[in-house]
Amino acid sequence: MAGKRVLIVYAHQSAGSFNAAAKDAAKEALTTQGCTVEVSDLYAMKFKATATAEDIIGDVQNADNFRYAEETKVAWEAGKLSDDITEEQRKLTQADLIILQFPMYWFSLPAIMKGWIDRVLTLGYAFSQEKRYSQGVFKDKKVLLSFTTGSQESMFSANGINGDMNVTLWPLQNGILHYCGFQVLTPQIFWAPSHVPSEVRSTMLEGWRKRLEGVLGEEPLAFTSMDCFDREKGFQLKPEFHEEHAAKEFGPTVGTHLGKPLPPNQMRAGV
Ligand SMILES: Cc1cc2nc3c(=O)[nH]c(=O)nc-3n(C[C@H](O)[C@H](O)[C@H](O)COP(=O)(O)OP(=O)(O)OC[C@H]3O[C@@H](n4cnc5c(N)ncnc54)[C@H](O)[C@@H]3O)c2cc1C
Repeated sequence: MAGKRVLIVYAHQSAGSFNAAAKDAAKEALTTQGCTVEVSDLYAMKFKATATAEDIIGDVQNADNFRYAEETKVAWEAGKLSDDITEEQRKLTQADLIILQFPMYWFSLPAIMKGWIDRVLTLGYAFSQEKRYSQGVFKDKKVLLSFTTGSQESMFSANGINGDMNVTLWPLQNGILHYCGFQVLTPQIFWAPSHVPSEVRSTMLEGWRKRLEGVLGEEPLAFTSMDCFDREKGFQLKPEFHEEHAAKEFGPTVGTHLGKPLPPNQMRAGV
């Protein structure tokens, strides 16, 4: 771990929150191991959450029909993205590990963190037609979601009222992180910290510190490689992949499940 760089992107309004405690625990544990840790404290930074033409310095290509992805690609190539985006891209480029620390909002991320994703992971810089998924830009970087819930774990199960957490995490872990090439590590889920006794919260934080001691050696979650999809056929799975998986109990991933039972592979590596 020594010499590695970590970026913690943190979204909570309160320094007294459990999320703040999880962020502080990570910063301390990783710094103690010799890592350089940067924190983007999004609310404190008043980070702009909306993707607009103001994100580009100077004139845009087509103000009448403004298209964010294409315009930010041209601006990124010309070094004309706004200073706040450029600074976050600098931090991200330098990081070996990125931790997104947030409270779950509406089965997803707080808007300010979604804004960080929309504005920092721009076309050209973070992905392109050629560079995505297993061939993605950030394939040498690791990332993990570290978040709190209001709900108990049982509510986010295949038998629970909120449904399977594996499904909830698919858009974030596959659609954003794996799409940009990141090696996605097992999420760190702090279940319902507001509803457990103080000792349980302390144990959760202790477990988090312990996990961080070996985090860069962890096996990432499994996703299906780009090579398994046929570009000429609208990126459908190739027949040989189907043959290989015919006898398997679970579908390969939560999204590409082949009509089989969902694999538990969005929450644990090696399954
Ligand atoms: C808009 C919105 C949407 C939401 N959507 C969802 C949803 O879809 N699904 C869902 O499950 N939940 C949802 N929630 C609930 C939300 O996820 C939880 O309220 C949040 O995750 C709790 O985390 P926190 O950091 O805010 O907890 P806090 O309430 O800040 O902390 C919990 C407890 O930990 C204590 N604490 C702080 N520091 C420490 C420390 N160092 N050691 C020990 N204890 C400490 C605090 O004092 C407090 O008692 C939503 C909430 C909002 C506002």
